[in-house]
Amino acid sequence: MRLPRFDYLGPDTLDEALDLLATHREEAKILAGGTDLLVRMKKGLLTPKFLISLKALNELSYIKKENDCIKIGARTSIADIIASDLIQKQARALSQACEKIGAVTIQHYRGTIGGNILQNNRCHHYNQSDFHRSGRQACHKDGGKICYARDASDRCNSTCQSDGATALMALGAKIVLASKGHERTVDLANFYTTDGIMPFAIESYELLKEIIVPAEGGSSAYQRLAYRSAIDYPIVCAGVLLKLSASQKNIIDDARIVVGAMSRSPLFLAREASSLKGKKLTDTEAFKKAADASMNSAAAFAVHNVGATLEYRCVMVSEMVFRALKSAAQDAKA
Ligand SMILES: Cc1cc2nc3c(=O)[nH]c(=O)nc-3n(C[C@H](O)[C@H](O)[C@H](O)COP(=O)(O)OP(=O)(O)OC[C@H]3O[C@@H](n4cnc5c(N)ncnc54)[C@H](O)[C@@H]3O)c2cc1C
Ligand code: SF4
Repeated sequence: MRLPRFDYLGPDTLDEALDLLATHREEAKILAGGTDLLVRMKKGLLTPKFLISLKALNELSYIKKENDCIKIGARTSIADIIASDLIQKQARALSQACEKIGAVTIQHYRGTIGGNILQNNRCHHYNQSDFHRSGRQACHKDGGKICYARDASDRCNSTCQSDGATALMALGAKIVLASKGHERTVDLANFYTTDGIMPFAIESYELLKEIIVPAEGGSSAYQRLAYRSAIDYPIVCAGVLLKLSASQKNIIDDARIVVGAMSRSPLFLAREASSLKGKKLTDTEAFKKAADASMNSAAAFAVHNVGATLEYRCVMVSEMVFRALKSAAQDAKA
């Protein structure tokens, strides 16, 4: 499989990159590590005219603490996040999620956290070669009018399999989107559309600049299930955050549960998490109830398009959420 032709643009500064994006818009794509983008281009799934590389933009590669937040530049490598003491201690779920991404080669040499969040949704009916797809009717994502994953669906249901996004949403992260002369900050939980063709609420002239993770205390954890322990995407994953009461350290004051790889975006399950408010850290019965409720809610969104049967993935939602809650509680007690 060969890459289609494109013009490579190598800006030296963020301002130059934003100028190029403002000029070329839909005709251009940002190239970070390329571990998602170039694979899709080789399969003929997209053919951008221009690639705007972030290679020289060291100014987008950093991890720093500011007030009660951790700020991460979008071009920061997955390996740098795994190696960060600050993230291991104060955003444990993200560290655990990044350890699971792909393989060491993806983590160390290429993959970035920005590219991880913005990697395209996947579906085993679509993420195939040109040859494979040419043998049958086109689905919504290929310009057709049907969906192989859900009968009579009017839209694409391809699945977000980003480990990083699931963990970051559990941590309550926000993202900063930059365009020429403008910046806006968006809660990651509000960054998704409901269509797998264009799953992100980002304009063609915007660039993901920074990720802001609240670090005001609390204990987090991430769990995932994949076919293989390396070089594989999650087929179910869960990120959780437990915040403890200021007066009683063994009581949960607030919780967040996010289920990933089950829908067009990670699923932020606020109602299911709220059942944990006021519960003890040792209350595994409450964890089980919240995990089962998460399974029931996630099942309503899921379609069979990323491998394993849908029934199995749904059951495993409960297991992943339960394990993540137990792990976060254990960490909070330590
Ligand atoms: C074999 C294999 C296994 C994988 N396993 C996993 C896995 O287990 N878990 C997982 O989460 N991912 C996995 N991936 C997907 C991917 O490798 C990682 O998500 C990686 O972190 C993507 O980062 P990147 O910098 O290479 O992104 P790129 O490929 O450079 O970019 C991905 C997308 O984001 C856009 N983009 C990138 N940065 C920006 C920015 N700053 N602003 C605006 N747009 C931007 C690009 O235009 C592109 O559309 C796997 C990939 C492969 C090939
Ligand atoms: S979910 Fe449906 S429309 Fe989307 S890529 Fe898969 S088969 Fe195509």
